[in-house]
Amino acid sequence: MQELKGHWQTLTMESESSLSQADLLNQLTEEAEAIVIGIGAGMSAATGFTYVGKRFTDAFPDFTQKYRFFDMLQASLFDFEDEQEYWAFQSRFSLLNFFDQPVGQAYVDLRHMMTGKNYHVITTNADNAFYAAAFDMEKVFRIQGEYGLWQCSEHCHQQTYHDEALIRQMAREQSDMKIPANLVPHCPKCGAGLEVNKRNEEKGMVEDGHFHEQKERYDQFLKENQDKKVLFLEIGVGHTTPQFIKHPFQQMTEKNAKALFVTMNQKDYFIPHGIRPQTVRIDENIAEVLHASSK
Ligand SMILES: [Zn+2]
Repeated sequence: MQELKGHWQTLTMESESSLSQADLLNQLTEEAEAIVIGIGAGMSAATGFTYVGKRFTDAFPDFTQKYRFFDMLQASLFDFEDEQEYWAFQSRFSLLNFFDQPVGQAYVDLRHMMTGKNYHVITTNADNAFYAAAFDMEKVFRIQGEYGLWQCSEHCHQQTYHDEALIRQMAREQSDMKIPANLVPHCPKCGAGLEVNKRNEEKGMVEDGHFHEQKERYDQFLKENQDKKVLFLEIGVGHTTPQFIKHPFQQMTEKNAKALFVTMNQKDYFIPHGIRPQTVRIDENIAEVLHASSK
């Protein structure tokens, strides 16, 4: 067991047990030759972009009263009664979680920690947190779409659209949870309603040139660094969509004896036996660990 971790000096030093989790993380990122960062909902929640509780009920008192939603994720996936109501919700949702999203300190701390390092990011969050924290967006792959983009609800063609001014107008001019009918956007090809760019179980997601460019840069990074001492750093990744980050990270770790899988999560998820010798778990508060290790 010790043999695999033996590739990492940080983990073989006698002081390992006495290092704080923040120092341990910091040293591992210093030692890595490449860092692949996988971000899930837990990262945004850790830095204040929570989908449940006051942030949600303050922004949507009308919708929470009418539908008794448990959280904002459930609400964002809800089958609203018509397009006018759908856009009344989605316009305010995308202002809150995309266009007007403030800077998240944990993202800034992560950026500081990565300064000068060879890294790339994949995120399942469709919010705008990396942009708000001034990341180099060429290093970020948003695999689950973006709240600021739209797609044809029939997926009739692979193109996304955006219109921030219209979103703002929808938010401003709605009443009784409906936008005016003439503001409802339609697909320029087939006339079906547009919807927020996201993946759904039956139809998948509209993936256009912008998406494929991000994917190619990510794949290229993985390929260039596949034989190196790679740190797969998973932050706040749960088990909703393990096929995008968790499972590929674990599989790539298994294939590369020099790789290390670091999972930052307060929940203890199952780790496959084969990679346990190459796994480090950081279970303290994500925001606090990132803040302390970015200094
Ligand atoms: Zn269409």
